[in-house]
Amino acid sequence: MPTVPASGSGRPVAPTRGVLQPLDLRDVRIGPGFWGDRQRLNGTVVIDHCREWMERLGWIGNFRVAAGERRGREFTDADVYKLAEAMCWEAARIDRPGGSDLDAAADELSEVIAGAQEADGYLNTRFGHQGAEARYRDLEWGHELYCAGHLVQAGVARLRTHDDAGDHPLAVVATRVADHVVREFGDAGRPGVDGHPEIEMALVELYRASGADRYLEQARRFVERRGRPALDDIPFGRAYFQDDVPVRAASALRGHAVRALYLTAGAVDVAVETGDHELLEIIASQWRHTIATRTYLTGGMGSRHEGEAFGEDYELPPDRAYAETCAGVAAIMVAWRLLLATGEARYADLIERALYNVVATAVAADGQAFFYTNPLQVRVPPPVADPTAESPRAQAGLRAPWFTVSCCPPNVARLLASLSAYVATTARSALQLHQFVAGQVHAVLTDVGPVRLRVETDYPWSGSVTVQVQESPRAPWQLEVRVPTWAAGMRLALGDEVWPVAPAAGAGVTTRGYAVVDRAWSAGDELRMELPVRPRWTYPDPRLDAVRGCVAVERGPLVYCAESPATAPDDLTDDRLALVCVDDATAPDDSDTPVLGGAVAVDVLAHALEEPAGPPRRLPLIPYHLWGNRGPATMRVWLPMRPIRPIR
Ligand SMILES: [Zn+2]
Repeated sequence: MPTVPASGSGRPVAPTRGVLQPLDLRDVRIGPGFWGDRQRLNGTVVIDHCREWMERLGWIGNFRVAAGERRGREFTDADVYKLAEAMCWEAARIDRPGGSDLDAAADELSEVIAGAQEADGYLNTRFGHQGAEARYRDLEWGHELYCAGHLVQAGVARLRTHDDAGDHPLAVVATRVADHVVREFGDAGRPGVDGHPEIEMALVELYRASGADRYLEQARRFVERRGRPALDDIPFGRAYFQDDVPVRAASALRGHAVRALYLTAGAVDVAVETGDHELLEIIASQWRHTIATRTYLTGGMGSRHEGEAFGEDYELPPDRAYAETCAGVAAIMVAWRLLLATGEARYADLIERALYNVVATAVAADGQAFFYTNPLQVRVPPPVADPTAESPRAQAGLRAPWFTVSCCPPNVARLLASLSAYVATTARSALQLHQFVAGQVHAVLTDVGPVRLRVETDYPWSGSVTVQVQESPRAPWQLEVRVPTWAAGMRLALGDEVWPVAPAAGAGVTTRGYAVVDRAWSAGDELRMELPVRPRWTYPDPRLDAVRGCVAVERGPLVYCAESPATAPDDLTDDRLALVCVDDATAPDDSDTPVLGGAVAVDVLAHALEEPAGPPRRLPLIPYHLWGNRGPATMRVWLPMRPIRPIR
C-alpha cells in the first residue's frame, strides 16, 4: 500500500497508508437534503439533548464528585466522552452557525472531565478512588479501558479539529490516560484486555495523531492477547467478548455485536499501521462472511437479544432482531477502515445501507428520541412511553428520549457530526465519490492539484445526481463514482455522451466497483448520473429460515416497510393480514402521496389473509427509517407472498 503524508487533520480515521486517502471533514460541505437536514438536526437538537440528559441523570456530575455518590451504570463515562467527541466534530463543521458557543460548552465539559483525573493519569468515576472498588479488578465487566478508549477518541477529535488542541484539557487528559494504559498494560504490566473492545482503535488513532509508537504497540498487544484466552469465562461464553479464539483464528464476527465490531475496527487499524497484510486479509474474509450470512437487509447486525449477539449463519429473525444502533455505527466504522485500506466499493455499499436503514432509523424526526434496537418486524403496537422518562429497556416500538444504557444516542451524534468525512476520498490523480450527497467537495489530488466539485441531487428520493466541476487542474484526473450493487441500469452522461454502467465489475466498472471518468476536466463540466431508484422486490436467501416465503421492497438504498395504521380507508390497514402479490403485473410502484415530510411512499398490491381470492388492494409502504414516527404501530419489512399453501 502506498504511504501518504501523516496528517490526520479533520479526519475521524487517518491511516498513514492505504489505497484511498480520507478527506478533512471541513473539505466536504453537506447541503440541505437527506443527510444535510439530519446533520443540522444533530447540531441543533441531538447534541444538546444528549448533554441535558447526561447532566440530569448525573453522568456528567459523576466527574465533579469523584469521591461522592456515583449515578448511572459503570460505563456512563464513555457516553460523556462520546458527547465531547461529537462536540469537537460539530464545532469544526464549516457551515455550522454558532460554532464558538459549542466550543465554549466543550471547554467546560473538558474541564469537568479533567478535574477527575488522578495523578498517574487513571480516570474513571466508578473505580479506583476512595470508597470505590479497586482498579482493573473486573476486566470482564468493568469497562475501564473501554471508557478510556472513548476518552482517547474524544482527545483525538480535539487534536484534529482545533489548532490549540495540544494544550487543550481534553487532549491533555486523553494523552495522559493513554500513557497510563500503556504503562499499566505493557509487556511488563498487567497481561489483560478489556471485556469491551474500544481502546484498540483509540490507541491507533492517537498513534496516528501523535506519531508516538508506544500507542500502536499497545493496541497491537491488546489485539494479539485476546482469545488465548485473556479473560475469565462468563455465562454467555467467551465468544461474547471475542476471547474464545484469537482474532486470526476466527472465520466470522460472533458474540456481542458492538464488541465484535469495535475489536474488528481496531484490528484493521493495527493491520494497516503495522503492514500486516495477513491480518488484514483475515479480517476482510471475516467481514465477507458476516455480510453474507449474519447481516440484516437493513445493514443491521446482531440477531439475538441474549448477549446482544450475532447469531449463527442465516439466523436472522426479523422480529427478534437486536440490530443495535451502535452496531450500525460500528459497522460503518469497520467498513470505512476497510474501504480506505482496499478501495473496494463493497464497503461503501454497506456504509450506505447502514446509514439509510440503521442510523437514519435510530433518530426520531424531532431529534429527541432514539431507537436502541432496530427490529425488522414489530407484532404488537407498543404502549406510549413517558417522554420525560428514561427507558430501562432496549426493545424497539417507539423511540425513547433516553435509556438507562444510552450508548446509542451519543454514538449517532458523533457520526452525524463527522459525516462529511465519509462522502469522498482521493488517490493520487483520482477522486472517489462514495456517497451521493448534495453539497460541495474540495480535495487536493496529490499528483495533479486542487479540485472543487458541486453535487446536486435529492437522492435517495430521486436517482439523478449531477456533479459539476467548479475547479480543476489542467492535467487529466479521474472522477470515480461508486456503482451500488443494486443499481442495475445505472447510466452516466457527459455532454451528449451517455453510457450505461453495471454493478459488480460489469460494463464500465472497475473490479473495485467504481465507474471511472478519466479526462481533462474544465470548470463547468457536468457528469450526470441516473441511478435506478424505482422500487424493486428483494427475495431472501433460501437458507434464511425466518423469512422464507416472504419478499421485501427496496427503493435505491432504502428498505421499505408496512406500518399500521395505513393511510387511506380502502387500504389494507393491518399489515399482519396482508399477502403481497408478486408477479409481472404487480411491480411495486411509487405512490402519488408523499408521507412524513415529503418522503416517497411505495404501493404494492396485496390480498387480505381472510380473502385471498378476492381482488387485491393497495398496501402502502413507507421507508423503514421513518417507521414509528406516527404513534404506536405494528411494522414489518418482510411481507408474506401470495400464494401461500394452507398449513394442514
Ligand atoms: Zn448502543
